[in-house]
Amino acid sequence: MNKLNEIFYQFLPEFKVNKIAKYGSGHINDTYMVTIDDSETTFIMQRVNHQIFPNVPELMNNIFGVTNHLKTKFEEMEGKDPNVNSLTFINTLDGEKYHQDEEGNYWRVMETITPARSYDKVETEQQAFQAGVGIGEFQALLSDFDGSSLYEIIPNFHNMETRLATFREIVKKDVVGRVRLAQEQIQFVENRAEEMQTLVRLGKEGKLPIRVTHNDTKINNVLLDENDEVLCVIDLDTVMPGFVLYDFGDAIRTSTNTGDEDDANLDNVEMDIKLFTAYTKGFLSKTASSLTPIEIEYLPLSARIMTFIIGLRFITDYLDGDNYFKTHHEHHNLQRAKAQFKLVSSMERQFEEMQRVVQEEVTVNC
Ligand code: ATP
Ligand code: MG
Ligand code: MG
Repeated sequence: MNKLNEIFYQFLPEFKVNKIAKYGSGHINDTYMVTIDDSETTFIMQRVNHQIFPNVPELMNNIFGVTNHLKTKFEEMEGKDPNVNSLTFINTLDGEKYHQDEEGNYWRVMETITPARSYDKVETEQQAFQAGVGIGEFQALLSDFDGSSLYEIIPNFHNMETRLATFREIVKKDVVGRVRLAQEQIQFVENRAEEMQTLVRLGKEGKLPIRVTHNDTKINNVLLDENDEVLCVIDLDTVMPGFVLYDFGDAIRTSTNTGDEDDANLDNVEMDIKLFTAYTKGFLSKTASSLTPIEIEYLPLSARIMTFIIGLRFITDYLDGDNYFKTHHEHHNLQRAKAQFKLVSSMERQFEEMQRVVQEEVTVNC
């Protein structure tokens, strides 16, 4: 029997597989759509990338904990369907959350959310608004979930202090002789280093609550329906304890850029204030009453910080000889850093407007 079919039957032997085909545009896991003979029912099967996530059992425990909590909440809400508005994973015949094959790969199966649209780029204010509603609702429904019970999938993922320390060490070593090619970017980092550590500092001072964070809040991880209304937040691999500002900031970075993440033409890269406004409206419509005043105050800065940190990671990897991010040409990581830093500059120019938008939405929602 075909190997993929065999794996699927570890979960659902009662269904006869018609076809298992590659699906979606994810970059991390291998995702397949499973179609069933004489049936409209389909399933999503994934091989989890255990190079990136070494502890898959803990990762699956996190996901089950979070989805069970969300399901209980959606059951109590009018107009919601726990099987459409949250992911439904299938246990194996042995009652496990995943199947491990002879090669050591981890597999999982879930119900397909349908009819769903997954966009790789935000095109309209409606999409930005609904993405904000989706992530906002995810945050709000999990605000009474004990974040500290979750396993920390990638320790220090957003820790600016450790990221800056690594950067400085790599600049000093200059192992591939690229420091001379990145003088402008190194200066850009140093000019902002102090302010960019604000979230770490607030965290240390105990001023930011530890919540459940998604950590990959880009648009293709929020499924919308055929009217572009939110259905479900997916891709929960990186769910872990953290600050809500990480999720908001990274969503703004990925949802409001008029250019590409690695745009070679920096003139294309700006933060679209209309998309920022739409996303913020959606997000705060669900979270304004559960966020603390300090969390709200730092929403605009979190967008600059989360954009800066990814730029910092790109430039660090460039100076280190491209060990982490896959590159498609020689100076790809430098190009990515330039684009992200351009986006930071664009946010700096529009910062007062961003603050005004947040204040206005808080007033509307409280
Ligand atoms: P990323 O690069 O965002 O980390 P990934 O490799 O972790 O992606 P997923 O985001 O989980 O993979 O899945 C890839 C794509 O498959 C999604 O963007 C979505 O289009 C589709 N998909 C995943 N799960 C489901 C589901 N339950 N129902 C419908 N579509 C899904
Ligand atoms: Mg994804
Ligand atoms: Mg993912």
